[in-house]
Amino acid sequence: MSTHEEVIVIGAGIVGVSTALHLQEMGKSVCLVDKSRPGQETSFGNSGNIESSYVLPFSPPSLSKIPSILLGKNTSARMSFPSGLKSLPWILKFYKESKKETLIENGRNLRPLLELSVDEHKLLMKGTDAEKYLCETGRAKLHRSETSFQASSLERDMADYYDVPYEVMKRDEFLEREPALNPVFEKAVIWSGSARLSNPGKVVKIYAEKFQKQGGEFLQGEVTSLSQQGEGWQIKTISGEVFHTEAVVICVGPWAKDLLRTVGTHVPLGLKRGYHQHFNASAALNYNITDADCGYVMSDMEQGLRITTGAEFADINAEPNPIQIEQVLPYARELMDFGKAKEGDPWMGSRPCFTDSCPAIGEIKGRKGLWVNIGHGHSGLTIGPSSGRLLAEMMTGAKTFCDPTPYSPDRF
Ligand SMILES: Cc1cc2nc3c(=O)[nH]c(=O)nc-3n(C[C@H](O)[C@H](O)[C@H](O)COP(=O)(O)OP(=O)(O)OC[C@H]3O[C@@H](n4cnc5c(N)ncnc54)[C@H](O)[C@@H]3O)c2cc1C
Repeated sequence: MSTHEEVIVIGAGIVGVSTALHLQEMGKSVCLVDKSRPGQETSFGNSGNIESSYVLPFSPPSLSKIPSILLGKNTSARMSFPSGLKSLPWILKFYKESKKETLIENGRNLRPLLELSVDEHKLLMKGTDAEKYLCETGRAKLHRSETSFQASSLERDMADYYDVPYEVMKRDEFLEREPALNPVFEKAVIWSGSARLSNPGKVVKIYAEKFQKQGGEFLQGEVTSLSQQGEGWQIKTISGEVFHTEAVVICVGPWAKDLLRTVGTHVPLGLKRGYHQHFNASAALNYNITDADCGYVMSDMEQGLRITTGAEFADINAEPNPIQIEQVLPYARELMDFGKAKEGDPWMGSRPCFTDSCPAIGEIKGRKGLWVNIGHGHSGLTIGPSSGRLLAEMMTGAKTFCDPTPYSPDRF
C-alpha cells in the first residue's frame, strides 16, 4: 500500500488529529495513521477538562508523602513494583523541577498553549456534533480543610498575576451551585475560564471525521519502524505495508519513546498511568470536581459519572492494578451519593510526561522531515489543538502564534 500525501501523521489521539487538521487547513496533503481508531486511547479516558486556567504545572508530592506512596497508601500517587522502579531517574528529575522558581517558569512556558485552548477547541468543533459535548462551566477544586486551601495559595497568586479568573467560595455557597455534593469540604475554587468535554473520545472521533470529510486520508496500521530515504521518509507497519512521504509527524503519546528509538532518537518521556470507571449517578454535576486532598476527579460524562485517579508509576505494559481506583472510591462516596460501577474493569491509560511539564513540538535535530508533537502530560486534551496549530505553523513556515523555543525536542 502507498500514500502520496506530503505529510504522514502517526497517532490519531487529540494531538495527532488536531495536528493533521491544522496541516490540512494550511494547505498540506495529510495522511493520518493509527494502530487503532481515532480517539480510542489516552484521549478517550481522561477527565475531560479543557483546563485553560492552569498556571502552575503538576508538581510531585511533598517528600513527607514518599513513605505512604511507597507503601501504596497514598491516593494521589502510587509506585507499582517492580516496573515503576525504572521510573526513578525520571522521578528524581521531576523533583528537581519542582522548586518554586522552576515551577513558575515552567508554568509560564506552558501558558501560550493553554490560553488558546478553549478557543482552539471551539474552532475545531464549529459546525460539527462535537459542539454538544462542550460545557463552559469548567472545573471546581474542593479543599477539605483551610490548611489544604492555604497550601495551594501559589496557584491563586499566579492566577492573579496572569489575570486568570477564579472564584473562592465557602462550602454552603458552593453547595447552592452544586447541590448533588455532600458537605465534607470547607472551600471551593471555581476556575471559571476553563471548560470541559462530556465525551472526549467522541470529540476526537468527530474531529477525525471532519479531517476525512475535508479530503484527509486515514489508514489503520501499527507503525513499527521509520527510516530516512533520500529527501523523505519510509514507514513500515506491522502487517508489512510500506509508505513513503516527505515528512512525518510523530503524535503517538505514551508510545513515543519506543517509536523514536527505531530512528536512534532518545526522548526522556515518563509515564504516569491513571484509571477511570463510570458509575450510575442520581444527579448531574455542573462542574468537573477535583478533590484536592484525596487525589481524584469526578466528571459528568455521557457514559455516567466518571471517576479518574492520580498518577501510578508503572511500565506502560505492566498489568493494570485497580487498587488505585478502589482507594479513592470511599472518599468520592463521602462527597457524593452514587450507585454501582457500570463496567467490570476500570479503564487504564498513561499520561506522556516530560519533567518540565511542557510538550516537545518541533523537528528532530539532524533528522530533516521528522517532526514530533508529544509529551502533553496532564493537559493533552486541553492543549492538543493549540499545539497542533503551533506545529503546523512551524512546518509550513508560517508566523508562529508563540515562541516555540520552550517546546524544542532538543532541550533535554
Ligand atoms: C486518567 C487521566 C486523566 C486525564 N485528564 C485530563 C484532563 O482532564 N484534561 C487534559 O487536558 N488532559 C488530561 N489527561 C491527559 C490527556 O488525556 C493526554 O495528555 C492526551 O490524551 C494525550 O494525547 P495524545 O494524542 O498524545 O495520545 P493518545 O490519545 O494516546 O493518542 C496516541 C495515538 O497513537 C496511536 N499509536 C501508538 N503507537 C502507534 C504506532 N506504533 N503506530 C500507529 N499508531 C500508534 C495510539 O493508538 C493512539 O491512538 C488525562 C490523562 C489520564 C491518563
